[in-house]
Amino acid sequence: MLSYQHAFHAGNLADVHKHGLLAWMLAYLTRKDKPLSYIETHAGRALYDLSAPEAVKTGEAARGIARIADWFDDAPFGRALAAAHAQGPQMYPGSPFIAGELLRDDDTLTLAELHPQENAALAEAMLPYPAIVKQIDGFQLAMSMTPPTPRRGLLLCDPSYEVKADYATIPDFFAKLHRRWPVGILVLWYPVLVDQRHKPMITALKAVFPAGIAHEVAFAPARPGHGMVGSGLFVVNAPYGFETAAADMSKRFLALKG
Ligand code: SAM
Repeated sequence: MLSYQHAFHAGNLADVHKHGLLAWMLAYLTRKDKPLSYIETHAGRALYDLSAPEAVKTGEAARGIARIADWFDDAPFGRALAAAHAQGPQMYPGSPFIAGELLRDDDTLTLAELHPQENAALAEAMLPYPAIVKQIDGFQLAMSMTPPTPRRGLLLCDPSYEVKADYATIPDFFAKLHRRWPVGILVLWYPVLVDQRHKPMITALKAVFPAGIAHEVAFAPARPGHGMVGSGLFVVNAPYGFETAAADMSKRFLALKG
């Protein structure tokens, strides 16, 4: 039974880190006039209403995107934020919506979301875009469709880590994906946790991908005692310039108070 709902956390500082750099990578990839494949294993509902009770209850978006949207005024993520706002002033773009906005008609988007309600909302939000939405286990989807056509492309794996075994199984999942799709850009989001539970996963990923980049930003916990104190992205085959974009993001997070 899936109980995690991203609506409680949409637009928080971890989302801003993940979505800002995802948008940068997608915009970079679309500079070349060649189609690409975008795959998401854990897509969520694509559009989030930050005035909904879930978001108001946690206040995470208020301490996140609501404070720092101007970081992205001239950045690719700013384009997705503006497109979401066009649907309602409090709407926030999840990763599939960002991809829908930044990719082109001849790019392919394949999205897995297992939760029935989230999947229905995802399918509706993605109607304007050339996306294939599947109610299927995202790990299974990725294994069944790699290498994709076209070969150029990016896969985002963004689990909720509700299934604790994910920490142990993801390095092997990424290793298998990379063997099947050596040119694919593989992106994993992970929480930076006080109890360091994420650390063995990153060590294992580093052992398989010595050139992989683990980019982390730190921030204050959402509530006193909350275990997440930062956000991480592990990127295999990072596009040229990613490290500069990530360093810029680090600088902004370091200057953030609280
Ligand atoms: N990627 C989204 C974004 O950044 O906007 C957020 C995704 S949220 C962290 C994780 C989602 O994965 C939840 O909506 C959950 O229902 C879904 N999920 C959980 N296990 C899954 C699985 N095995 N396959 C596909 N979706 C899954």
